[in-house]
Amino acid sequence: MAFERINILGVNIDSLTMQQAVEKCEDLISERIPSMVATANAEMIMRATKDSELRSILNRSALVVPDGAGTVWAAHHLGCKMPERVAGYDLAQEILKLAPSKNQRIYFFGGAPEVAEKARLKAESVYPGIQIVGTRNGFFKPEDESKIVSEIRKSKPDVLFVALGVPKQEKFIAHHLKQLKVPLCIGVGGTFDVMAGVMKRAPEWMQKAKLEWLFRGMMQPTRAGRLMALPKFVWKVYTQSKN
Ligand code: UDP
Repeated sequence: MAFERINILGVNIDSLTMQQAVEKCEDLISERIPSMVATANAEMIMRATKDSELRSILNRSALVVPDGAGTVWAAHHLGCKMPERVAGYDLAQEILKLAPSKNQRIYFFGGAPEVAEKARLKAESVYPGIQIVGTRNGFFKPEDESKIVSEIRKSKPDVLFVALGVPKQEKFIAHHLKQLKVPLCIGVGGTFDVMAGVMKRAPEWMQKAKLEWLFRGMMQPTRAGRLMALPKFVWKVYTQSKN
């Protein structure tokens, strides 16, 4: 199924619900054609305005979901339909939840040493029967890249989660999509950190109040500078809507 794509600052975002996003991901897995899914929040879209490679990768992706209240707000501000936020973390959990019954093989790539492995243990306890066929931390030298790609390919996953941060994860997937031969590759940012218990997700009330971005900025002071991306994003979208 094709969804309406909303152009937000040059990045085309699919207008769909979580349920539709999950169904689309499952379709991509069954079709067996290596595909990429991205989860676009305001920060990623802002980055893509300056990084044309990232922008072109996103616009070639099989699916770009609206991750973040800012993305949904922007679509509405531009007069377009965007039914709800599809957070990357939640989408990853929905895919993991379905995997055992569909006999799908999953690979976790990214995060600090031990984090992907801890996330695997968590997945195995929360989703009994899940097959995590490999894990690898996300710190490597450029010369290790081809070895990593061949290790992933050898384990024949149906789904590859890549958590290297933006835009590294999107670029890694796009550069190696054909060699990886994985039907569904998705960049998942801090998902393993949350699963491993290294990072906390914002409390539900903050998520509902659309303040998850603020929580992340508070929890990781090193990200504080990145908080400026949101007001810049809002300003740019206002300008886009006037042109
Ligand atoms: N990360 C990694 N390799 C790198 C840089 C980052 O594996 O070279 C991991 C980092 O440990 C974290 C994840 O990427 O687990 C996502 O980082 P962040 O929360 O900053 O993601 P973003 O907000 O950029 O999606």
